[in-house]
Amino acid sequence: MYPLTHLYFTKNVLGRLSSALALGSVLPDILTSVGMKWKEAHSQNIFPHKEMLLGNLIHGINLPGLDYYSDCAFEGQEGFAFQYAKHLEMDLTELGIPKEHSIWRGHNFIEMAIEVRLNQTEESELWKNLELASQDENLKAIIYDFLSEHNYNEIHLVDLALERFLTLRGNLDKLAIDYAKKLSAIYQLHIDPKNCQDLILKAQTLINGHYKLFLEKCCDQIKQDIAHFI
Ligand SMILES: [Zn+2]
Repeated sequence: MYPLTHLYFTKNVLGRLSSALALGSVLPDILTSVGMKWKEAHSQNIFPHKEMLLGNLIHGINLPGLDYYSDCAFEGQEGFAFQYAKHLEMDLTELGIPKEHSIWRGHNFIEMAIEVRLNQTEESELWKNLELASQDENLKAIIYDFLSEHNYNEIHLVDLALERFLTLRGNLDKLAIDYAKKLSAIYQLHIDPKNCQDLILKAQTLINGHYKLFLEKCCDQIKQDIAHFI
């Protein structure tokens, strides 16, 4: 999922959101940004700061957290975002995305659709928590140390990742431009941001009646599972 979705979700699971919780709740994606493989980055269950660990567990796949239910499995089927990504497969192959990548790319559109939707509500206030966290040198130093211990030395990428989250900020236009650039670079295509914007909007029509219930069900389960760590 995208950052605001994780901030919102952590707040719902724990009933509060501190700077440390905010930073922890995007930590797996920060680790991915510095070069850690997705699965490893989303499976960390030891971290030297309790609140950040809680946020991290609520995001990752080990607990299992939200990304497990969105990306891996939900109610005996593939992850929620993958279940709906099937309906975007044709649109993506028509844009030139290889068929074998179309579900993976499609799942990002489902997740962007949720992010954009949340950003249009009062939940957009939660960006402030991440903004504060991104200015907290003591908290960030804990991540830098953790990365150094795991032999990741390009710690400036942590700040770059946070800056990117806060710039895109759940905004439809910005996410569409960013994702069009990404797809164009990866597949050597010329994808118009308008195509990505249309796909995010199509994804919204697919998930509108379903994503809230999905988040609620995950929240109930994760509340129970995280209780052992609190
Ligand atoms: Zn993630």
